Amino acid sequence: MDPELCGRLTRAAGHACLRSVRTWTTDLRHMPPPSAAVPAIARERADFTREVVEAATVDPAVVGLSAVACIGRAGRQRCRSRVRVGIGTEGIEWSCDACGESGLVTGFAGTESDFTGQGPRGRTVVWGFEDDERKVLIAATTNAPALRAIFARARPHAELPGLLLLKATVKELDEVYTLVEELTDATRSRKRLDLLDGLRASLCSSMDSDVMR
Ligand SMILES: [Zn+2]
Repeated sequence: MDPELCGRLTRAAGHACLRSVRTWTTDLRHMPPPSAAVPAIARERADFTREVVEAATVDPAVVGLSAVACIGRAGRQRCRSRVRVGIGTEGIEWSCDACGESGLVTGFAGTESDFTGQGPRGRTVVWGFEDDERKVLIAATTNAPALRAIFARARPHAELPGLLLLKATVKELDEVYTLVEELTDATRSRKRLDLLDGLRASLCSSMDSDVMR
């Protein structure tokens, strides 16, 4: 079934129960692939679901706020608050404290977004970056799961809401650095160049922190 339609039916059927009204049940295998030409709203829901699966599977022990932004409605705007993710008995559960939307994702095991076992291995450093930087990195790695598995580890800093942190090996950060260089070569936008410059600087200081130890 079309995922948007499925979501609407779930909502309509549950109109008498506040919890059901706002619960989405999605099977990742029924989502359009990243390359599919689909309406923007279906693309947004598919991208969101994929990010939720990636964040939940990369580190199943972690239950809590992810870096993924909620696409629920808050009036005329998107909610954009960070959603909680975790693996439950029936699948991946996500919820948003701000707007109350929640959902269950099934059918993710073995898909390209299933990052089970892809946490960092060996000695790691901490890398910090921001939401707009994450957005650029995620968009640039639609077909690069190994790099997306690094970004999927990002979790919000407990006290600085705009800051995301993740643990990675220096080798992994070096691969991200190469990606950022490629993106730099491919753009002339001053704003985007500034953002990419900032990313290179934060990657360098994280990689240097390993040498300093
Ligand atoms: Zn929300």
